[in-house]
Amino acid sequence: MSLKFCSLSSGSSGNCYLAGSDNTYILIDAGISARKITSALNSLNVTPSDISGVLVTHEHSDHIKGIDVLAKNYGIPVFSNRKTSNELIKICRYSDKFIINSFENNVSFNIGDLEIKPFPLHHDAADTVGFSVKNAGSKICTATDTGCITDDIINEISDADLIILEANHDENILKMGRYPWHLKQRILSSHGHLSNTAAGEAIIKMIRKNPKSRQILLAHLSRENNFPEMAYQTIINILEQNSIILCDMLKINLLNRDEMSGVYLL
Ligand SMILES: [Zn+2]
Ligand SMILES: [Zn+2]
Repeated sequence: MSLKFCSLSSGSSGNCYLAGSDNTYILIDAGISARKITSALNSLNVTPSDISGVLVTHEHSDHIKGIDVLAKNYGIPVFSNRKTSNELIKICRYSDKFIINSFENNVSFNIGDLEIKPFPLHHDAADTVGFSVKNAGSKICTATDTGCITDDIINEISDADLIILEANHDENILKMGRYPWHLKQRILSSHGHLSNTAAGEAIIKMIRKNPKSRQILLAHLSRENNFPEMAYQTIINILEQNSIILCDMLKINLLNRDEMSGVYLL
């Protein structure tokens, strides 16, 4: 096996993914407490000292909650772009006690035997990115916390074997719900979060761009403005309207908010 992936938590209350090869493990975001991360890792026979880096997509609290403790107590290096690094230095209590490595968007770098490429997303934080993680011909991409999926993003993620794609909200539930108007506008904007419908349309674009075999994990579902069954069915309906059916070439699963996923092996 060349790549493995497990969601420790996904959703507006906290995001943290483990990815790795046989030799190297990284975390993508650490948006739950270090205690929860440690116990989730332990259940996979991994310890924080096995983690070679925490890659940060952006500085919102549901992506960085556990970073202070992980980086200070275990010396795990943090990787983020310059604008996000500057925010982390302001937000994190112990940022003077840990190592922050700044990367450039769209420039690949290596952590152990993993090749990482950060690519820009469209979200209301300093400089949000998704990540491509490659090893031995396999590729995982994360694309959550983005108000839209542009052609540049499609170009980056279409050849991935496993894609963690945001399906944040149902637009009607959001519009009719109890969120204040400015928050609704923020989520619905092109720099907010991806709706179920937009996720379905992005999957169609990926398939048209590159009709390869792929698995998609629907991620970062809103507690207030979505239901797992609704996210899944909305996307299946969009695929069916485009004459695409789920088969061995295309698998779609949901990442649960309060539960670890299984381990995906590529
Ligand atoms: Zn965010
Ligand atoms: Zn988020």
